Amino acid sequence: MKKYVIALDQGTTSSRAMLIDAQGRAVDSVQRPFPQIYPQPGWVEHNPADILSTQLGAMTELLVSNGLGPEDIDSIGITNQRETTLLWDRETGEPIANAIVWQCRRTAPIVDELCGDPEVAREVTARTGLIPDAYFSASKIKWLLDEIPGAREAAEAGRLAFGTVDTWLIWTLTYGQVHATDVTNASRTMLYNIHEGCWDPYLMDLFDIPASLMPDVRPSAADYGVTANPGLVQGIPIRGVAGDQQAALFGQCCFESGMAKNTYGTGCFLLMHTGGHACESKNGLVTTIAASAPSAQGTEYALEGSVFVAGALIQWLRDELKLIDSAAETDELARSVADTGGVYVVPAFTGLGAPYWDPDARGAILGLTRGTSRAHIVRAALEALAYQVSDLVKAMEDDAGEPMRALNVDGGASANDFLMQFQADVLDRCILRPANTETTALGAAYLAGLATGFWSDVDALRALRASDEAFEPAMTPELRGELLAGWEKAVSRVR
Ligand code: ADP
Repeated sequence: MKKYVIALDQGTTSSRAMLIDAQGRAVDSVQRPFPQIYPQPGWVEHNPADILSTQLGAMTELLVSNGLGPEDIDSIGITNQRETTLLWDRETGEPIANAIVWQCRRTAPIVDELCGDPEVAREVTARTGLIPDAYFSASKIKWLLDEIPGAREAAEAGRLAFGTVDTWLIWTLTYGQVHATDVTNASRTMLYNIHEGCWDPYLMDLFDIPASLMPDVRPSAADYGVTANPGLVQGIPIRGVAGDQQAALFGQCCFESGMAKNTYGTGCFLLMHTGGHACESKNGLVTTIAASAPSAQGTEYALEGSVFVAGALIQWLRDELKLIDSAAETDELARSVADTGGVYVVPAFTGLGAPYWDPDARGAILGLTRGTSRAHIVRAALEALAYQVSDLVKAMEDDAGEPMRALNVDGGASANDFLMQFQADVLDRCILRPANTETTALGAAYLAGLATGFWSDVDALRALRASDEAFEPAMTPELRGELLAGWEKAVSRVR
């Protein structure tokens, strides 16, 4: 009897393996951090061997410590840090260099050079849904081909394989039998045409990347082979793959147009499902492919946007201003005052993102009086998180031409009840917080389990979410209007 699905959650700073049972509960998990490599300012790398040893080690430890074998495991679902780029030799399986991590800025000049012409930039966006940036894989592949001695010749001869981290894991798990990625990861490479569903010849040409490098692209719930690496438990099917944000959207049971999730971490990641419609953004958001259930009719899309500084603001209050000892105490402290006393915090530490796009703006605390207390400032900081998300939601609704329904939340700061209630109040929308906020891993497991029939359909997954906590809006329209007007004024002051 197959009792569990294993989710492999390969993140930027750690690899986790999680055991998910038929009720969607995380029964156990093993997490292993790995080193970040900073060869030069602005450069970020991961050693591909570190990714493997931590991820596969975590999976093996999970199985061994729970006394489980292949007969207990239905399937594996993979979710991963997106865009991070690897090239390896198809014969030996050896990477030709360290992985270039999504955060790495080394290829910014390549993007400026190739996509600087507004006509070209528009073409890239029309095909990929993305705004040209060094973040995505395309320029990272080009850098590796141009800078690693012998790489381009090897690629031209068909000897190299490209993969994002999902592909690298699948290749290793299947012992080189499967070279594939899923549509959500493909949609973050800036080489994939999200409308036609193929590696785009125009983009491959623009970045001078041979087609022989590219993995096969499959739906997120599909057949990715079975574990066949001699170092691992054999014969477990790999059936789910999705990039971390899309996996979280799926794990939040956002399967239809208008459904959205926001992750409150160091920054925020907001994704809204837009059904079969790839919305082009007028507000600088990106259009991306959403992970779909096997029953889906055709490709499904989402709009994606981020808040640069969210939980990081709370860390700053703690570590730099020393206003608080822990992030958790902000909840009670914020409630200890009736309001912020007119104080607004605008955390534009690195400029303002969507919908303002002002990279030169800097942060400010406004509205201070002699009566301003620590509690007022802390409350204003939490409220600033909610205002930023509210701005992003408005931009998204404007692009999608339809209202967002309830907002599903996860991430570290979603534990803050004051923040969640204030978010519901300023958005005038219900906030839903699932009991299990490990939505990224859950999404990967759901995709795999749907593909095998471990779960019958998406309704079975929705039924697992019975224990949501709901925060209903309770603020008067007058007060909401007043507060939002104050926020707008504060934002205008830092621009
Ligand atoms: P990440 O995955 O981006 O590292 P997490 O999802 O682990 O982030 O969330 C951690 C962030 O959330 C930190 O920036 C922290 O300041 C913030 N945070 C954690 N708990 C709370 C809380 N109760 N209230 C407000 N912020 C919190």
